[in-house]
Amino acid sequence: MPILIRNIVLAPGEGDEVLRVRLAERFGVPDRDIRSVRLVRKSIDARRKGRVIVVCTVECRVADEAAFLARHGQDPDVKVLVKEIQPPLPRLTPRGRIVIVGMGPAGLFAALRLVEYGLAPTILERGRPVEERTRDVQAFWSLGELDTESNVQFGEGGAGTFSDGKLTTRVNDQRIGYVLEKLVAFGAPQEILYQAKPHVGTDQLRRVVAGIRQGLLAAGCDIRFRSQMTDIVSREGRVGAVVVNGTEELAVEELILAPGHSARDTYEMLASRGVHLLAKPFAMGVRVEHPQELINGIQYGRGHHPALPPSDYALAYNNRKTGRSAYSFCMCPGGVVVAGSSEEGGVVTNGMSAHLRNSPFANSALVVTVGPDDFGSALPLAGVEFQRRWERRAFEAGGGGYRAPAQNLLSFLGMKGGKGVSSSYRPGVAEADLTMALPAAVTETLREGLRDFDRKMRGFVTAEATLTGVETRTSAPVRIVRGEDCQSVSLPGLYPTGEGAGYAGGIMSAALDGIRVADIIAGKIAAETRSA
Ligand code: FAD
Repeated sequence: MPILIRNIVLAPGEGDEVLRVRLAERFGVPDRDIRSVRLVRKSIDARRKGRVIVVCTVECRVADEAAFLARHGQDPDVKVLVKEIQPPLPRLTPRGRIVIVGMGPAGLFAALRLVEYGLAPTILERGRPVEERTRDVQAFWSLGELDTESNVQFGEGGAGTFSDGKLTTRVNDQRIGYVLEKLVAFGAPQEILYQAKPHVGTDQLRRVVAGIRQGLLAAGCDIRFRSQMTDIVSREGRVGAVVVNGTEELAVEELILAPGHSARDTYEMLASRGVHLLAKPFAMGVRVEHPQELINGIQYGRGHHPALPPSDYALAYNNRKTGRSAYSFCMCPGGVVVAGSSEEGGVVTNGMSAHLRNSPFANSALVVTVGPDDFGSALPLAGVEFQRRWERRAFEAGGGGYRAPAQNLLSFLGMKGGKGVSSSYRPGVAEADLTMALPAAVTETLREGLRDFDRKMRGFVTAEATLTGVETRTSAPVRIVRGEDCQSVSLPGLYPTGEGAGYAGGIMSAALDGIRVADIIAGKIAAETRSA
């Protein structure tokens, strides 16, 4: 019977092997009686600066469990672990072709789940396999040559492939463990299974994505790259077929649509076909970049232990009068600011890091929510047009060539002492007045927010920080409206999912949403099989 024990404390730099020693000390059990110790959660507690600790939860087996529980069963940190055994999924036979559009986390996890039911889908991805895509993205970052079909937003792995690969989510879902285990099975580091804030890193993520492709091919999936769904055909009031690259028509029984938030042409096509869409709020702003050491000093205290990982932060400010909030988003410790454009003539910032998070910079988006009142229209695609307008302004402010406008943080606040700009963004930045690339309400709220953040993290406002803009692709500006059964309310057989559908935000929640849709389709096929 495994026993779960919380709040085992390590000092920074102490290895996991010390956990046995701590257990033995705390519970007075001889080391030889501890049969096994498995780390299930590890987090850093930096609330007391200068006295940072590592807090662990372990699953252990001891020689005499009954005696151990008799002595320690009342300890609030001790709990007997009852593991639920999941029954295997039923094997199903599809009535017709299941098509998935998009190979981001939502599409990939929908596919992985479907193959467990024996339902091998056809997968359409407009971009290229991750190896080719990586070369296209590198060319964009070094030369400013954008490929509008193979970039940071489009291609195998989806938008998060060139990211920090953070797997945290506010969604509370039992299947989070399932997603993490799948990622590990395809090559992600084991530690994501126990870290409180797991992250994979772009270098590892690319390998994982290629591994998932191999797994799906081996399971019989038909994967088609450079295959954009350009139209949707309805028959007898439901989805009947999709058109690929404007030429080939593919009959479809169930269509999982996981296009991400940047497939603007796909949104336009859906709108023209009468699929019910709604404009939705999203957040926009800038990337802030500090020296990582400066952030470590603020978060951990001066002279912190060198074994501590590069620190992150999460900041939020709310102006009750205006109802606007400014907050940090997608923080990348030890990362770089990246160019995330997918459309010609627009500059878009984002952030990524390698698994080791070993760049000397810390960056994060600082954003403010904008909605239909700001878009100037309640039309479904008004938010898309709004994003585009500010991305173009940023392109102009950067002087072209996808250089991004950048400004010293002090100058942005109208303070003296700014030391010019220093940014990891490639293909480069041009010093500019960032207010030219931001709506006035966003500028104002960011300025208020920054002053507030400096009260919460003394030293955040510094001449050493640079702001780069514009950050617009935080979440979808559109919702493809679906019902309780996850089908489009206007077109049965169409299952919008993931971030682009407006039902998820981030890698983990998009993956979970893809699984949810796959389970619903499998449930429907199982019910049809029973009644046939
Ligand atoms: P996407 O990942 O966007 O995938 C959609 C796919 O559909 C794309 O591959 C696209 O090419 C394809 N597609 C679009 N239209 C069509 C069509 N018509 N036909 C065929 N294919 C089509 N989230 C985190 O949780 N942690 C992070 O650290 C993180 N960092 C990020 C860093 C960057 C640089 C970016 C851009 C995003 C980051 N995100 C992060 C957000 C995260 O990547 C997204 O939330 C997530 O990828 C959404 O998954 P998705 O499957 O819904 O869509």
